[in-house]
Amino acid sequence: MNKRFDIQRPYYHVPNMHEETHAISKNVQRAKGYTSSENSDAEVESLPQDFLRDDFEGLPELSEFEVVRHFTLLSQLNFSIDGGFYPLGSCTMKYNPKINDKVAGMDGFVGLHPYTPSQFSQGALEVMFSLQEALVEITGLKACSLHPAAGAQGEFVGVKMIAAYHRNKGDSKRKYIIVPDSAHGTNPASAALCGFLVKQVKSGPNGTIELADIEKLLDDSIAAVMLTVPNTLGIFENNISEISRLAHERGALMYCDGANLNALVGQVDFKAMGIDVMHINLHKTFSTPHGGGGPGAGPVVVSENLVDYLPIPVIRKNGEDRYDLDYSVPHSVGKFRAFYGNFGMLVRALCYIYAYGSDQLKSISDTAVLNANYIRARLKGSYHLPYEQPSLHEVVFTDKWQEKESHVSTLHIAKRIIDYGFHPPTVYFPLVVSGALMIEPTETESKATLDRFVDSMIEIAKEAKDNPDIVKTAPHRAGFKKMDETRAARHPILTWNDSESD
Ligand SMILES: *Cc1c(COP(=O)(O)O)cnc(C)c1O
Repeated sequence: MNKRFDIQRPYYHVPNMHEETHAISKNVQRAKGYTSSENSDAEVESLPQDFLRDDFEGLPELSEFEVVRHFTLLSQLNFSIDGGFYPLGSCTMKYNPKINDKVAGMDGFVGLHPYTPSQFSQGALEVMFSLQEALVEITGLKACSLHPAAGAQGEFVGVKMIAAYHRNKGDSKRKYIIVPDSAHGTNPASAALCGFLVKQVKSGPNGTIELADIEKLLDDSIAAVMLTVPNTLGIFENNISEISRLAHERGALMYCDGANLNALVGQVDFKAMGIDVMHINLHKTFSTPHGGGGPGAGPVVVSENLVDYLPIPVIRKNGEDRYDLDYSVPHSVGKFRAFYGNFGMLVRALCYIYAYGSDQLKSISDTAVLNANYIRARLKGSYHLPYEQPSLHEVVFTDKWQEKESHVSTLHIAKRIIDYGFHPPTVYFPLVVSGALMIEPTETESKATLDRFVDSMIEIAKEAKDNPDIVKTAPHRAGFKKMDETRAARHPILTWNDSESD
């Protein structure tokens, strides 16, 4: 048994092979994982002599049962949303209905080659067209491209469109994009990748952008303002229309990072807010399990002024029931990836949207916001709340009180919550809050789960007072003790090494 898997977990036991047992086991005939069939000699003879090996020494020989146990154990080593509450803020780890995986896995979808000509892929094109239409309706904007493969790529495509727009107008002096200090790191990175410089605007005492601060920066060197709505503190920026008005007056465009749309589906009209282009993370709002680094989708939605800049191809409906790929977008920013989008994610998103319909989609956001505010109300006597503004889908606390009283930090609290059976919240993000603990419960958790989580957090706050060591040395009940994170980063063990096993 490999030492790395020789661990104690509360809910299963990995046998620890005792030396003595090991010695005996060497003499016991090893289980065979494979038995060749009677006819196999004929196959072997047909192989050239040079390719045959006569020594099988050193190859692992395991029974099917051992292999099954090994992989079942591996599948349980990671915490997952299907195993427990996963309150990561800014990631929206919500339950994704399994029916959507099932539909995305239907033969007609998975068997379709992405370059099948459009006359033979009308069903898939209809799915994509319908999703474009749904996202246009949900945002209030004009047109949509399902091209980008993730939120960050949506930003990249969106900022490319902004660059092309100014270039096409012969306006070459716009070198800067304004990004708030609370933004996701992908925002300044996308701006830089597209050749812009970033001007940072600081969040005010309420966690939102102050109009006067942005007004000072807005001159004719600004290409766009990138706002995150709701922002990464879980707060709704309250001057959006006014910021848009000022930006447009001075020739700049408005980019909206809509990754966290889960808080706002059906609640706001982005057109009325003056947004020119936004991306939506389908994998944070409209189904698709994520968190394991799997594929996502970050469609961009634009207002009229950017319709001619969309990536190609655009999916169009021609006549009653015919769908086509249109490559003739006049100022298109081009193609950013192979094929036409992460199709499986698009199927899941459309299933999700159609399953709920407009009324219920709105209620998803209502419940997500209610749940975050419930946690906020129940925890605010135990943890320091840096901003008094009401929360939307997520709430940010800090370790200020625990740190001051007993040097218990956010990292300690995060490790201790593992002992109570929960995945830790997002920690130390957003960067503008010192010792941030960012909790996003989503709409899919029951009150009973939220109460268990809150009770555990309150218990940890008590422990931090009465018995800080137990928090500082956590986790105690997880498979692993606290990691040496520096060593893990500097000397990662990435391969199987037989000499480590025994
Ligand atoms: C998640 C997130 C992103 C990045 O999305 P990816 O799909 O991970 O690339 C960008 N901005 C915000 C506010 C986010 O929460």
